[in-house]
Amino acid sequence: MNQHDADNDDKLARTTDRFSVGLTGGIGSGKTTVANMFAERGAAVIDTDAIAHQLTAANGVAIAPIVSEFGSAFIDASGAMDRAKMRAHIFSDASAKRRLESILHPLIRAETASAAELAEGLYLIFVVPLLIESGNWRERVKRILVVDCDEQIQLQRVMQRNALSQSQVRAIMATQATRQQRLEAADDVITNDSGPAALMPQIEQLHALYQALSRSI
Ligand code: ADP
Repeated sequence: MNQHDADNDDKLARTTDRFSVGLTGGIGSGKTTVANMFAERGAAVIDTDAIAHQLTAANGVAIAPIVSEFGSAFIDASGAMDRAKMRAHIFSDASAKRRLESILHPLIRAETASAAELAEGLYLIFVVPLLIESGNWRERVKRILVVDCDEQIQLQRVMQRNALSQSQVRAIMATQATRQQRLEAADDVITNDSGPAALMPQIEQLHALYQALSRSI
């Protein structure tokens, strides 16, 4: 490996030298809601799910490698990856899941690192739905923030938001880390079991902490 590659690897591994928080939580726990509240207060939010969507949208960087690996049957009429078809395919085929991830993960990592380099804001928040389950996020961020939510409330929110049945939501939840696993990995926890008003003081308190920590780096 030459010096340039080594520098690049190093850059991707740490993502940023700035103070950064990895925000995670189960589906429907309230990650987006919470991230928006930090953004309103001046944090720079980088959403890895949105990056993954851009990569697989029409003209996205991942489309060509997906076509060469899986064929054009997985591309819809607009030129984007057919997400429903791909989801069904990788659900029943573990090797296809690994092959898709080996295309997407390095691209997501590179895009996330460049977004972090360009980001302005008081500090960085990376929204990573599968932070506990995948990759080396623990080494790439200074703190892990978990949005925690009662499972019944989580179920209700996702059934309503995505028009899914209870068993469909439970099937998605079964592929994610458990509530306990997430809480064990957390440096900070936001409880999102009731209305938006209960979030406000928790956000204010952590925002003050993150600003103080970012100043002390
Ligand atoms: P995630 O990004 O973790 O999937 P969202 O932030 O999209 O979760 O929240 C899931 C759904 O629940 C959304 O429709 C959102 O508007 C709603 N929601 C989130 N937090 C609250 C809350 N405290 N009170 C009421 N609805 C909420």
